[in-house]
Amino acid sequence: MNDSLEALRGEVLEHIQKSDSEKELEELRVGVLGRSGKVTLLLRGLKDLPAEERPRAGEQLNQLRRLVEERIDTRLVAIKEQSRERALKEEQIDITLPGTRWERGRTHPLTLVIDEIVDVFLAMGFEIARGPDIEDDYYNFEALNIPKDHPARDMQDTFFVSNGRLLRTHTSPVQIRTMERRKPPLQVIVPGAVYRHDDDATHSPMFHQVEGFMVDDRIALSDLKGVLSHFLRQIFSQETGVRFRPSFFPFTEPSAEIDIQCLICGGESSAARQTCRVCKGSGWLEIMGAGMIDPHVFKFVRYDPEKVSGFAFGMGVERIAMLKYGIDDIRLFFQNDLRFLRQFG
Ligand SMILES: [Zn+2]
Repeated sequence: MNDSLEALRGEVLEHIQKSDSEKELEELRVGVLGRSGKVTLLLRGLKDLPAEERPRAGEQLNQLRRLVEERIDTRLVAIKEQSRERALKEEQIDITLPGTRWERGRTHPLTLVIDEIVDVFLAMGFEIARGPDIEDDYYNFEALNIPKDHPARDMQDTFFVSNGRLLRTHTSPVQIRTMERRKPPLQVIVPGAVYRHDDDATHSPMFHQVEGFMVDDRIALSDLKGVLSHFLRQIFSQETGVRFRPSFFPFTEPSAEIDIQCLICGGESSAARQTCRVCKGSGWLEIMGAGMIDPHVFKFVRYDPEKVSGFAFGMGVERIAMLKYGIDDIRLFFQNDLRFLRQFG
């Protein structure tokens, strides 16, 4: 008994020492101390021994059991410590490595131009108004003095939605909506998207306008000329020549188209204008439309045209951005090509 116990003790302790996982140790514990473990069976066999040998054999077996328990616990602590160290080593972070670069966003060129336009008008005391992109025929045409069958409707290829509603073809409906709700004096600009069925290098089915108007009791054509000349020289340059040309819009009377001196060839007096493709040799670039608000429009919003007067203007943001940055295809603004967008802002 003694010899075999000694052999078992040696074998079990060696096995414990060689174990390198919690699972292996647990299997070993069951194999030695479990219900049919080797030591358990020996303890159970004590009753078959002669009475005088039992106490000593029992004590030896109990000693062995305590020793095995103790060694397993010690080994378990060591294994846990080892695996913790291994994990720490494997998961080590080198804080000197460069981190993931964040791609910084930039302001879209059209937003830059809109902000610039808006800032010039805010500095002159204008306020910003906005309106819905989906409009009623009334606000987009009727109240702007464009009745049904008016030829001006054909100038604006309209996208119709259901129930007679449409995507606004200009920002002018916001003029009507603002005047309906408020009384003069008003100095308002309206930046926003507009929609027309048109698509080529200089037209996009969705583009942006900035609309503006000023209404009070004594607004004259000279106010319009002063405000817009100042605006254009702020946006382009102080030396930019500005020209007002008679034109026609249903919602203004009189109406004017406003031209600036060609930015590419240098204008009318420049020799280079003969071959300039941008102004087509004229030396002038059409930049915006404007005029004194038609008395008919005032009647729609219940203003008395005998008592109030005002001017209104509108410009295409893409056209101004194209001229400012020398861009020759409007589609570049909407293709989201980072090589293009990275050049701004
Ligand atoms: Zn030119």
